[in-house]
Amino acid sequence: MSKYVIVGASAAGIGAVEAIREVDPKGTITVISDEQCPQYSRPMISDLVSGKADFGKMMCREHEFWTEKSVQALTGRTAVSLNLKDKYVELDKGDRVDFEKLLVATGGKPFVPKIEGSDKDGVFTFTTLSDAESLAAKLESAESAVVIGAGLIGVSCTEALVKRGLKVTMVELQDKILSLILDPTASEMVENVIRKAGVTIATGQTVKRIVGKPENDKVVGGAVLTSGEQVPCDLVIIAIGVIPRTELVAGTDVKTNRGILVDKTMCTNVQGVYASGDVAEAYDFVYGENRLLPLWPLAQLEGKVAGYNMAGKKADYPGGTAMSSLKYFGIPVISIGIANPKDPDQYETIVNHEPERSLYKKIVLKDNKIVGITLVNDIEKAGVLFHLLKNGVNVKKLKQELVADDFCLATLPRSLRRKLYPGEYK
Ligand SMILES: Cc1cc2nc3c(=O)[nH]c(=O)nc-3n(C[C@H](O)[C@H](O)[C@H](O)COP(=O)(O)OP(=O)(O)OC[C@H]3O[C@@H](n4cnc5c(N)ncnc54)[C@H](O)[C@@H]3O)c2cc1C
Repeated sequence: MSKYVIVGASAAGIGAVEAIREVDPKGTITVISDEQCPQYSRPMISDLVSGKADFGKMMCREHEFWTEKSVQALTGRTAVSLNLKDKYVELDKGDRVDFEKLLVATGGKPFVPKIEGSDKDGVFTFTTLSDAESLAAKLESAESAVVIGAGLIGVSCTEALVKRGLKVTMVELQDKILSLILDPTASEMVENVIRKAGVTIATGQTVKRIVGKPENDKVVGGAVLTSGEQVPCDLVIIAIGVIPRTELVAGTDVKTNRGILVDKTMCTNVQGVYASGDVAEAYDFVYGENRLLPLWPLAQLEGKVAGYNMAGKKADYPGGTAMSSLKYFGIPVISIGIANPKDPDQYETIVNHEPERSLYKKIVLKDNKIVGITLVNDIEKAGVLFHLLKNGVNVKKLKQELVADDFCLATLPRSLRRKLYPGEYK
């Protein structure tokens, strides 16, 4: 019997362990992970492929972390089912771990559509260290790649491959790249920079078939797009996105939507069972509702909140929102909150677009409050703007200043600065 059992030992699992130990130094903790060494930074797997970082640099906690925290770490083991009535987790080899409190921190798994030929040698997904290592091992003998998906994962993988000298074609079903976080103008600016780096971008299309090499049909030789065009390549990387890994709670009483449903303490509808990170739908303070927000710092914070509550210290998750800070191919971009509203008529937008300076700033407002921010090539004031968004400040009198070159903290009225940054005015 372990007092606390945590399935998944990445951002959310680590956050939970640290919080539990703050409150309960002695209670037994068992962590289960199907990865051999789970305490690495997932966002850095592209750095491993590009050669920018080795495994040592990617570790977000040392090897000794689990022993230092007196955690029984069952790594390389898969939790295959849950028995919530008798409170145990069944593992892959048939053994079981009993628990008092359980955290499901199983994250996400890559979305892999059915594509003819996807079983050929040279097809990869791109979400784990092992994916990155397998891909990196193939690069010496590869000259070209097709990356399916031009979201954050697809673009980061593309950049890594370009750095390693490969000719890359990025294929995206939507008509714009990074369409979940950028509006068409910002997307086009990033797209232009990526094209200049030599990448071919095929939007409004996907890969319908992966074909083999003439001399060996089992090895990737090309990708046939929906247009019928065949792109010769040595590798195909499926980087369409991640979906919550909810299979462990399937068939149990734990309620799910796209992810596991949780309250502000990160508890599910089943007492003593918590969920955090990419697998959970947590509170988004911009939308005012629970949503999937697959971001590392949020996963870690959600794990921390779950850990506190599991150990008996009351804590509420303050909420997070979509937030991306990118510098792919050298172009700095920030996108926060509702940066690209699906129903633009419902919002007011303030824009400063100066193509000759490659500058784009857009603020999305609802009822005179900032709900979305896009900054391209001038991201310096993102912190102040985010503060205004987070605090729900009425910016009616400041609207145009928000996107001006000289916007800064001093632009804000003194009374507002006092309220937002009380520490500076002691
Ligand atoms: C390529 C890439 C780039 C990214 N870049 C960024 C970025 O720049 N910024 C950012 O904020 N976020 C980024 N993210 C997202 C970020 O990595 C995730 O939000 C974060 O890792 C979520 O943490 P988690 O603990 O919820 O889940 P995960 O990191 O997905 O970890 C879940 C763990 O649980 C294990 N597991 C799952 N099921 C079981 C089971 N049944 N039994 C045992 N073990 C199991 C998994 O193998 C995994 O080790 C990126 C993600 C990827 C893939």
